[in-house]
Amino acid sequence: MDRNDSLNDRAQKVIPGGVNSPVRAYGSVGGTPRFLASARGAYVTDAAGREYVDLVATWGPALLGHAHPEVVEAVQQAAARGLSFGAPTEGEIRLAEMIVERVQAGGLAPVDEVRLVSTGTEATMTAIRLARGFTSRDLLVKFDGNYHGHSDGLLAAAGSGVATLALPGTAGVPASVAASTLVVPYGDLDAVREVFAAHGDNIAAIIVEAAPANMGVIEPPAGFNAALAEIAHASGSLLIVDEVLTGFRVHPAGEWGRQVEAGHAYTPDIITFGKVVGGGMPLAALGGRREVMEYLAPVGPVYQAGTLSGNPLSVAAGIKTLELATPAVYEQLDRAADRVIADLTAALDAEGVAHSISRVGSLFGLAFMSDKPGDYDEAKTQDAHRFTPFFHSMLDSGVNLPPSIYEAWFVTMAHDEEALARIAAALPAAAAAAAR
Ligand code: PLP
Repeated sequence: MDRNDSLNDRAQKVIPGGVNSPVRAYGSVGGTPRFLASARGAYVTDAAGREYVDLVATWGPALLGHAHPEVVEAVQQAAARGLSFGAPTEGEIRLAEMIVERVQAGGLAPVDEVRLVSTGTEATMTAIRLARGFTSRDLLVKFDGNYHGHSDGLLAAAGSGVATLALPGTAGVPASVAASTLVVPYGDLDAVREVFAAHGDNIAAIIVEAAPANMGVIEPPAGFNAALAEIAHASGSLLIVDEVLTGFRVHPAGEWGRQVEAGHAYTPDIITFGKVVGGGMPLAALGGRREVMEYLAPVGPVYQAGTLSGNPLSVAAGIKTLELATPAVYEQLDRAADRVIADLTAALDAEGVAHSISRVGSLFGLAFMSDKPGDYDEAKTQDAHRFTPFFHSMLDSGVNLPPSIYEAWFVTMAHDEEALARIAAALPAAAAAAAR
């Protein structure tokens, strides 16, 4: 028995499903999840000692590659000074300043103030409470297949693990809570306008993934987020742009910055961050203009708190990661993505497998359908069954992909020629497996 199998047996006895987050289970692809023992650069090593080129990047945070020596050193130094203080620290100010400085484009600077939290779920949950408190309204508009973490009101028609499990929502959320979330097809501005015509006076906010990446990657229609801002603002509602996944990954200023540079300027009211901003440690954030952010306690009436918020180890990892994430790093990531996409396309074309690859900066996703999906319903029409043999062939060849067709692939700064060549070498057999 492989050590992954024996660990899986043990895990199943004491951890529900053997995993602490459902996407880690191989629910949609079958087989035994790899229990990881270490990760360095572009590689992860499992409990049986097998090394894989990694395209999961801990679901996004590892922008610089795993265990970047300077990030690890910053965390070690912070740990030596104390693991948690439960008091304000200078590092928190520095990280907040860095976020404010980076999130600027086209003369716009939508973030004046930042609140640090520990997970993306907390960031979006707090953003919604803040929007409700600020507007004194209850309703929230979200998009089908957009995932914003696992707080109650946001699990209506969410993507990610929920998409993989094909659940309509989740048990355990009261109908009354779900009823305050209005779900609209992604990309459908007419549907958004209709919802606002009917309920505009009571809509606190629209929340949208800056670019959806939890129902596969979907390329946002040009100017879509800017149009959402216009519709929301015309009704006195806020626009919350969720950059937990895209923030500081697709562009130095996030997907918002990428869109503004592409000529689609708009000003979100609240932006949420996670993943890269914590450099692989538990840290996330929300930011926005002062007037909105100062509705948060202790200044304003909207309560939010956290024993470990702004944890000094997480803050140290975030600061060092953002320091090292220079514009050149993003260019390098784009080139790595170019290469994987070219090799993937060539391998699938050679086997005649219908597919499309949607891309946002260096972030991309594969769909087994000829046209790029525009929303969740379209994404669900693909030949998803092709992914299981494709995934297992890649894994057998030593490439670790996200274990679901509805998840994005992540390259890192550490994906050098050798790592990219290993991926290229694995693709033809996987494409042949997908073709069967
Ligand atoms: N928002 C988006 C866009 C995400 O992709 C995720 C996680 O994948 C979250 C929010 C939730 O973040 P976390 O898993 O840190 O709670």
